[in-house]
Amino acid sequence: MKIICVGRNYIDHINELSNQKPTEPVLFIKPDSSVLINGSPFVIPEFSNDVHHEVEVLVKICKVGKYIQPKFADKYYNQIGLGIDFTARDIQSKLKEKGLPWEISKGFDGSAVIGNFVDKTHFQDLQNVSFELKKNNEIVQKGNTKDMLWQINELIAYVSQFFTLKTGDIIFTGTPSGVSKVNPNDELEGFLEGEKMFSIKVM
Ligand code: ZN
Repeated sequence: MKIICVGRNYIDHINELSNQKPTEPVLFIKPDSSVLINGSPFVIPEFSNDVHHEVEVLVKICKVGKYIQPKFADKYYNQIGLGIDFTARDIQSKLKEKGLPWEISKGFDGSAVIGNFVDKTHFQDLQNVSFELKKNNEIVQKGNTKDMLWQINELIAYVSQFFTLKTGDIIFTGTPSGVSKVNPNDELEGFLEGEKMFSIKVM
């Protein structure tokens, strides 16, 4: 199983980090060892002093595919979910400055929170699904899939040009604005259309 993440897919988040709007989706991979074991707390790694939460809508692939056309992309997934792409922002900023790959800032152990999934038939329009992240009971990130620069079907088509998609692979579709540092004892809760999809304690 692999995790493919999309960077810079919401304009308000691009602006908050003063990034350039990309002309093509920005992709990176998290290894399977990055998945936070269900129910475990997230332990802030000692190599970073600035780990950020990035709440993201997840797409679970249900069929093997390569060079998938956007118009057929919906056949390759039947569930969407919610998760967190934990990012060691201090490490990432240094790597970005040097033009180096972001992997260690994004793919470290526990950096991929994968919450519950819901059948996509549950939603009238997958490109109009709201989601939010609460930190210690306060909303810190709020997004809607209608604001994606690249929609889910376009992402699947784009990703599958480079990486064969396999059953069980998960796409992290990018984060809206509101990313911030997590601290020990923080409680993070993610909601998709008001339904709780995960709850994580930070240590
Ligand atoms: Zn992200």
